[in-house]
Amino acid sequence: MKKIAIYPGSFDPITNGHIDIIKRALKLFDEIIVLIAVNPNKTSYFSLEERMLMIQESLVEFKNVKVDSTTGLTVQYAKKAGSKAMIRGIRALTDFEYEFSINIANKFIDNDVESVFFMAKQEYMFISSSNIKLLVANGVDISQLVPKPVLKRLLEFNPDE
Ligand code: ADP
Repeated sequence: MKKIAIYPGSFDPITNGHIDIIKRALKLFDEIIVLIAVNPNKTSYFSLEERMLMIQESLVEFKNVKVDSTTGLTVQYAKKAGSKAMIRGIRALTDFEYEFSINIANKFIDNDVESVFFMAKQEYMFISSSNIKLLVANGVDISQLVPKPVLKRLLEFNPDE
C-alpha cells in the first residue's frame, strides 16, 4: 500500500527549509501532499493561488509531490486522503512547544494519525517565511534561501531591491 504523508503549513511562501524537509520525507514516504492550511482569519502575503503555484513550480521534478489546500482541520484532511502521517519541521525550542500542543490537539481529534517531526538542517534553521519577507524588503540577497520561482515573485513585490 502506498505510504502517503501530508505536509501542512501556511507556505507564505515556501522556502528552502520547507523543500529540504520534503526531500528528506520522500525517503520515508511514497507520496507527499503539501497542504496549504487556509486560515480565513489570517491575512497572507501571497494569495492561495500564488502559494500553490510557487510550490508546484518549485517541486516540478518531484512527481510524487502533490499540492492541495484546505480550510478545514489538517488531521481530518489526512484521514480523507488515506494518510496516517503528518510531517512537521522543528527549528528551535519555540517550534517544539508549539508543535507539542498542536500534536496533543490532533491526537484528540484523530488518534490514528501520527505526526512525524524532522529537525531543521543547520543552514536552514533560521529561515521562516516571515523573516524571508523582512530580509527581501530590506534588500538582503536571499537567493540561497528560497527556490527560484519564489525569488522571482518576491522581487516583483519589492521592485526596488
Ligand atoms: P505554520 O504556519 O503552520 O507554522 P509554515 O508554513 O511556517 O507553517 O511551516 C510548515 C512547517 O514547516 C512547520 O512545521 C514549520 O515548523 C516547518 N518549517 C518552516 N520553516 C522551516 C525550516 N527552515 N526548516 C525546517 N522546518 C521548517
